[in-house]
Amino acid sequence: MRVIDLITSSEKTAFSFELLPPLKGTGIERLYGDIDKLKEFDPKYINITTHRSEYVYQELGDGLYKRQRLRRRPGTVAVAAAIQQRYGITVVPHMLCSGFTREDTEYVLLDLQFLGITDVLVLRGDKARHESAFVPEPGGNAHAIELEEQINDFNRGIFVDGSPIRAPHTPFSYGVACYPEKHEESPNAEQDLLWLKRKVETGADYAVTQLFYDNNRYFSFVKRAREAGITVPIIPGIKPFSKLSQLTMVPKTFKVDLPDELAREALKCKTDEEARALGTEWCIHQCRELMAGGVPSLHFYTVGAVDVVRDVVKAIF
Ligand code: FAD
Repeated sequence: MRVIDLITSSEKTAFSFELLPPLKGTGIERLYGDIDKLKEFDPKYINITTHRSEYVYQELGDGLYKRQRLRRRPGTVAVAAAIQQRYGITVVPHMLCSGFTREDTEYVLLDLQFLGITDVLVLRGDKARHESAFVPEPGGNAHAIELEEQINDFNRGIFVDGSPIRAPHTPFSYGVACYPEKHEESPNAEQDLLWLKRKVETGADYAVTQLFYDNNRYFSFVKRAREAGITVPIIPGIKPFSKLSQLTMVPKTFKVDLPDELAREALKCKTDEEARALGTEWCIHQCRELMAGGVPSLHFYTVGAVDVVRDVVKAIF
């Protein structure tokens, strides 16, 4: 069943979880352990992130450096397939423009097709650490919309070189990202919304939000999106704080504001335990309010916070 059908056919608020593939050189058992903690909540689907490669420079001496491409978390497609097979849950691997040529992307689509995975989340991806602005891979897609168009062509049976795909296949369905507090590179919220509208018109079935802590931002974003003619489900992306450092680091990294009440309480936290208790309490409050506001589903970012996410979902399940 496609993600859009799973969400719209669910009688209760649907839950989904985002997981990261293991660090290169580590095993998948820990990931299974995380899913085991969450599966009792009947996740409708599980997202697996994709991580672009970065360039690292190894000093060789005499002022010489060797440039190496390093992907710290490879294996998205394999991890998605393993989860689908082991748990029978719909999986949604993330697909990126960054770090991928159009040909690389095509190979990912072919692998997914062979594995029977037909839902993906279409993203541009972040800039490389050494770049001040996003630079697409030579021969790669520059925006999520271009990646959507490539998938649409694939669905229509056309490879990137224009040749036909002969084998019949189930078309890919996909969602896209959106930003209640605006994407950091957008000159203003209106422009950002216009590009979201284009992403939906290009074929996205739904949009998942960047994490946020102020529900008013989400509700007013959805209102503006509806006024702009965007009718697809807008799924709130939720991440509870699980330790002290996150109270400052997460808002800074993801360019989101804390509402006054949460900011005041955050200032009082002095230990990881206090931060975790506040994170859990705030997240439960946030989820209850979103559910009362009629959200189609809740999508949890679990990185570094699986146990907190479990406590939250247990309280609202
Ligand atoms: P786009 O939609 O391409 O937008 C990027 C910027 O360009 C925005 O400012 C937008 O307004 C503007 N824009 C859009 N289209 C155009 C156009 N055609 N012409 C000009 N401007 C345009 N990152 C990862 O690396 N891996 C992941 O697995 C991952 N998962 C994520 C999951 C979710 C739910 C979310 C919300 C984000 C995720 N990200 C991930 C982060 C995401 O890749 C970054 O936020 C990235 O900077 C933007 O991606 P996008 O798909 O929104 O880009």
